[in-house]
Amino acid sequence: MEKKLRAGVLGATGMVGQRFVTLLEEHPWFQVTAVAASSRSAGRSYEEAVGGRWKMETPMPEYVRAMPVLNIDQIGEIADKVDFVFCALNMPKEEIRAIEEEYARAEIPVVSNNSAHRWTPDVPMVVPEINDAHFDVIEFQKKRLGTERGFIAVKPNCSIQSYAPILTAWMPFEPYEVIATTYQAISGAGKTFADWPEMNGNVIPYIGGEEEKSEQEPLRLWGSIQDGQIVKSDCMTITTQCLRVPVLNGHTAAVFVKFRKDPSFEDLINAAESFRGYPQEHALPSAPEQFIRYLPADDRPQVALDVNYGKGMGISFGRLRKDKLFDWKFVGLSHNTLRGAAGGAVLCAETLVSKGYITEK
Ligand code: NAP
Repeated sequence: MEKKLRAGVLGATGMVGQRFVTLLEEHPWFQVTAVAASSRSAGRSYEEAVGGRWKMETPMPEYVRAMPVLNIDQIGEIADKVDFVFCALNMPKEEIRAIEEEYARAEIPVVSNNSAHRWTPDVPMVVPEINDAHFDVIEFQKKRLGTERGFIAVKPNCSIQSYAPILTAWMPFEPYEVIATTYQAISGAGKTFADWPEMNGNVIPYIGGEEEKSEQEPLRLWGSIQDGQIVKSDCMTITTQCLRVPVLNGHTAAVFVKFRKDPSFEDLINAAESFRGYPQEHALPSAPEQFIRYLPADDRPQVALDVNYGKGMGISFGRLRKDKLFDWKFVGLSHNTLRGAAGGAVLCAETLVSKGYITEK
């Protein structure tokens, strides 16, 4: 790309916002030209506004330190500075729904990390390797909003990334019943051990709203566009339990699957490891070369060893075995703030650029 597209980050001072600011530091296609947050941060430099809240493993990038933080209400000013925005706000759902729609109506494409619009019928919720075709629904959304270039696109919840991609690769064998227990990192709640010391040596068997998302969102990924809306699939029943565990980054899932067909061990490994999607076909900058890899050692995947596979954008799985009650069981792992949050949104934006939905203004 000759000239980089100008990206804004809404909620730039928060944990996911910081991840965007870090990921985009040397992005070949995108350059952060505006950062925005609440009135608490607005008017200060990014460095001042974040203060002691910097939560990334690497130092705050130089390029953003002196950048003035705008108030998310300054839509006109932000519109002049950007070609599109990433959204990582943490506000009540109704307010996020409204503000994202305001940006879209102001002709600013919004690529969101938030759950607020995940079930809005004409908003695509996309993992680009799985359902890039759902971006076609944007034409219908633009008609509703009365926009030429403004729209909203979202990525799904972090919890589903350690099993939904693998189940997608196995669709030819018709999986129809799934149990998934997720072991979720504390960064998924925007926390580190410093600000959530109660999680040291602890497990909490409750994450608000997470089980419903983990059961329903994969069905929307596998859905289809009908009459200008995404209609979820009914190909499978998924039941889940979601546990918070004392891990900083990395969601693990222990999964049991029943299939209508009778795949062999080799069938399942080959289907998963050869699974490719739009990002691999088009060599997008954030795409892992191999999306899903199988680790044959008995004690893998491990968070400590495997969470950063494919720069945190790849999925690892292991422990694939026959089961007494179900047909097969396995353990999957993905990075919750890279593939599961900011990285997944950046890959959505790259796909939207590649398909011509996000362009230079
Ligand atoms: P966070 O650390 O609490 O950051 C929230 C951001 O929103 C800050 O920039 C904050 O600005 C801004 N904000 C809050 N209230 C605002 C208001 N009234 N007006 C304008 N800006 C406001 O949250 P987070 O952990 O980054 O999460 C962001 C979103 O991503 C949430 O919806 C979360 O559920 C979702 N998510 C998080 C993860 C994860 O791994 N953390 C994963 C998936 C999804 P100030 O600094 O000015 O207060």
